[in-house]
Amino acid sequence: MSNGTARTPFPVEYKRGRPKAHRADQVQLCAQALCLEEMTGRAVSEGALFYGEQRRRHVIAFDDGLRGLTEATAAAVHAMIATGRTPPPEYAAAKCGSCSLIAVCQPRRLAKPVEVAAWLVRQLGD
Ligand code: SF4
Repeated sequence: MSNGTARTPFPVEYKRGRPKAHRADQVQLCAQALCLEEMTGRAVSEGALFYGEQRRRHVIAFDDGLRGLTEATAAAVHAMIATGRTPPPEYAAAKCGSCSLIAVCQPRRLAKPVEVAAWLVRQLGD
């Protein structure tokens, strides 16, 4: 219920695991903040990531560096979508080990087309 005073949005993103070695979670949260700023016309200076394994909330400041990284990432995604092609998965333990999509992405399997080619040659014979 509204008490008549507008509040500054404070986005909170819940993650099952723990903080990662890269900044993808921060970029996701910052993207939410940019959307909230556009929707409400209010500056959103910070938000939080909550990690289930730690049961801790990490406050994230949306500084110029994170905003720039988020905008550059959004531009790169738009450019990728414009090509109409999804890039092939590239397995890296630091990112894939904590990715919730790994079961459907299967980056290790799809990153080995040479083995598939060899399997086909074996099946088809000479
Ligand atoms: S599992 Fe797939 S979607 Fe997830 S980080 Fe790895 S390559 Fe990306």
